[in-house]
Amino acid sequence: MSQNSTFSAVARPLPTGRPAPEAAPIGRLHSVETGAAADGPGVRFVYFLTGCSFRCLYCHNPDTWKVGTGREVSLDEAIAEIRPYVGFLKRVGGVTLSGGDPLAQSGFAGALARRLHDDFGLHVALDTQGALGGGLADDWFEPIDLVLLDIKHADHERHRMLTGRPLAPTLDFARRMVRLGVPMWIRHVLVPGLTDAADDLERLAERIADLGPAVERVDVLPYHTLGAHKWAELGRTYPLAETRVPTATETAAAVERLRAHGLPAH
Ligand code: SF4
Repeated sequence: MSQNSTFSAVARPLPTGRPAPEAAPIGRLHSVETGAAADGPGVRFVYFLTGCSFRCLYCHNPDTWKVGTGREVSLDEAIAEIRPYVGFLKRVGGVTLSGGDPLAQSGFAGALARRLHDDFGLHVALDTQGALGGGLADDWFEPIDLVLLDIKHADHERHRMLTGRPLAPTLDFARRMVRLGVPMWIRHVLVPGLTDAADDLERLAERIADLGPAVERVDVLPYHTLGAHKWAELGRTYPLAETRVPTATETAAAVERLRAHGLPAH
């Protein structure tokens, strides 16, 4: 394909792709955000957990990749951070587990979701690429009210070039959420020359449409370079240094292409 040169020859060390075994609900947090507006419905408290099995070329949080990094917290300590906001969040939004990918710490993330949902009655969203969910029992997802599922690319080969990992586990995860009745918001980053080809967007639309009404929303997220400096801080070369951000017109055209398939795209 015409953009393959942009994908090529980037050395990205990959982890095993399996969630680390965890005996106790001890987690590692990169950070928390108290008033996020773009990570689920309403105003969100966001826990950013460390660890991710992907190595996306455009990742703006490469400092979250390693699961052993970040601030160590017990479950009670993590709960204490959201406690002052619970009453407010129940009225205007909820809580989102993000990262990295929260499923890289599935034991801690699951215990945290259970407490937040069952004990506090909060709306809980899980922001994930889904690939690490295959080994989790169905009941792990009981406290999850919404999955924000990132589909990085609709083409298998290009997904692997973009993320370092196969697409199939993400698609399997999406179909499983349909089976479990967990609503999804699909998110797709629009990168000129990498993810914006017409045939790729058509394939993406078909894959999402196949999931049916479980997909409540599709967000086309314009690529940005706000995290590029983190690559340098980590001693890495940012692979997309020459890649521009999409124009508003290009983003709107991608949204329209998905809407033409009847998808609730924004
Ligand atoms: S899935 Fe997210 S956190 Fe993981 S590498 Fe990709 S952009 Fe970064």
